[in-house]
Amino acid sequence: MESVAQQLERIREKIAEAALRSGRNPESVQIVGVTKTVPVERIAEAAQAGLRIFGENYIQESREKMALLPIPEISWHFIGRLQSNKAKHAVLCFDLIHSVHNEKLALEINRQARKINRVQPVLIQVNTGGESAKTGVPPEEAMDLVNRISRLQNLSVRGLMTMPPFFDAPEKVRPFFRALYDLKQKITDTGMENISMEHLSMGMTGDFEVAVEEGATLVRIGTALFGKRT
Ligand SMILES: *Cc1c(COP(=O)(O)O)cnc(C)c1O
Repeated sequence: MESVAQQLERIREKIAEAALRSGRNPESVQIVGVTKTVPVERIAEAAQAGLRIFGENYIQESREKMALLPIPEISWHFIGRLQSNKAKHAVLCFDLIHSVHNEKLALEINRQARKINRVQPVLIQVNTGGESAKTGVPPEEAMDLVNRISRLQNLSVRGLMTMPPFFDAPEKVRPFFRALYDLKQKITDTGMENISMEHLSMGMTGDFEVAVEEGATLVRIGTALFGKRT
């Protein structure tokens, strides 16, 4: 099996090629190494190889890992489904929460962030495929949600995230990535205050090159870096 460092290098090359194909600066794309179920030794190896952002899906699992990996240079992102009763821990531990999908959760994050005098950066998760099994605000309601939570003082919207439907062929995912990009443009064009649309979190192991071509700034990659999850 190849080392994490070799896999990381290969992924970086593919990202750079995809960025250049679409006239983008490769440096505008960052890799979020998805570490659910990945042991801390492998995470440390990835950090050693230069990976700087790690994405976790579960609060409990991530707290245990963070305690074992006190590496100041690395940044942790929360990418899983967040329940309101866990918002407190998310605010304490994560530099970016990718999965805000309704006002109730946003209010709770804001409340918890205010308690520790912090402004929590978040992304709005959009259910571009309209699948009932996936969380995310429906695309047609995203603008309204961003507008309502833009007034919260301890929460800062930085962009959008999506988990599109699964297809074997990455080309089939392209319309969903494009839809997220279009939504970002639409929200940007309103000139809404107190929000930014700098980030589009989209693309995983099977489709990150297409996502980069369509404007991703954060690609969330697990399997291609760490191997199949057990
Ligand atoms: C697991 C997961 C990923 C990574 O998936 P891979 O196909 O292993 O790259 C990305 N995003 C989210 C939200 C995930 O839960």
